[in-house]
Amino acid sequence: ASLFGAIDMAPRDPILGITEAFNADTNPAKINLGVGVYYDDNGKVPLLQCVQKAEAKLMEQPAPRTYLPIEGLAAYDKAVQELVFGADSAVIQEKRAITVQALGGTGALKLGADFLKRFSPNSEVWISDPSWENHRALFESAGFVVNNYTYYDAATHGVNFEGMLAALKDMPQGAIVVLHACCHNPTGADLSQDQWTQVIDAVIAGGLVPFLDMAYQGFGAGIAEDGAVVRRFAEKGIPLLVSNSFSKSFSLYGERAGALSIVATSAEEAARVLSQLKRVIRTNYSNPPTHTAKVVAMVLSTPELRQLWEEELAGMRVRIKEMRNLMVEKLKEKAPGHDFEFVREQVGMFSYSGLTKEQVGKLREQSIYAVDTGRICVAALNSTNLDRVVDAVAKVL
Ligand code: PMP
Repeated sequence: ASLFGAIDMAPRDPILGITEAFNADTNPAKINLGVGVYYDDNGKVPLLQCVQKAEAKLMEQPAPRTYLPIEGLAAYDKAVQELVFGADSAVIQEKRAITVQALGGTGALKLGADFLKRFSPNSEVWISDPSWENHRALFESAGFVVNNYTYYDAATHGVNFEGMLAALKDMPQGAIVVLHACCHNPTGADLSQDQWTQVIDAVIAGGLVPFLDMAYQGFGAGIAEDGAVVRRFAEKGIPLLVSNSFSKSFSLYGERAGALSIVATSAEEAARVLSQLKRVIRTNYSNPPTHTAKVVAMVLSTPELRQLWEEELAGMRVRIKEMRNLMVEKLKEKAPGHDFEFVREQVGMFSYSGLTKEQVGKLREQSIYAVDTGRICVAALNSTNLDRVVDAVAKVL
């Protein structure tokens, strides 16, 4: 018998499955709201001007593609660290933070998970209910038991904060708690700064290990606002992990631009952490790719390009908010008995629309694709497809 004879077919990725079905649909008016990608008003994935300018500049002096250090391009790691924590932060000044280039946000999470498994093998991991669909599988594949903490409240379309806090207070010391820094995926429901204060207190009181996942910085209220919680945690002097991604904020999905930062309690401890993290990298993929690191580092550290990036990111953020507002207004007209005000309150690229699996199925009959949970990507709406989406939603309610 073949070595592979007894292997079962793995379940299809639910979200990539939607894209496959969408691609196979021959209706020219089909709309894909299932993806986690930002599209511009013409339905195109943007190639940011700041990225194009940085690439043009790099091509003026084409460089050989030698290996990067294990931890990535130094200029990238530095620029990212300053973006995440603030250049004047105590953790940077005191050299307590380390940052390594990673293969997107996913790669950063996996590095963090593998690192934690080596040094805290008996801890369990807690993720929000619901969470990004890859969190569970990713931490399980690193060898952890993964649990859910209470998060979303379908009745209010917001956070069940009492439930979340109670769950945090129940976790054993040393538990690893994965928190979405901003723009919660999939629900679009975030905590207020006051609620974060209580979460931070509970994490410290319980001796929990916070792992902040920041995949959408700049898509909520702004770059600084969305990153505020990371800095608030970092000020507390507790061990902290932060994964961040430029997939969305630079529209660099396929380039795999991300980073993992770890805050230790002293510079000497941080140096030991980095040395061990480098072993995790070395045995996985040795070192990261050069191109994306050079582009992002150049944009973040060149004032004109940095300003351009911030403007372009603001443009994406504002367009998503416009789509939220228009969707709510239009649904008010087309589905007067239904309250969609919550869509305005949600932040980031997604909305848990409240549509049921059956309703999502009926949308699909009209060639509009959403996730079975009712998650829709607001960033895939545009002035051309919005009316069709609103009409279709009103029809299935
Ligand atoms: N975390 C969350 C919450 C996400 O939604 C995603 C996907 N966008 C990631 C991490 C992974 O990001 P990346 O595509 O950069 O791997």
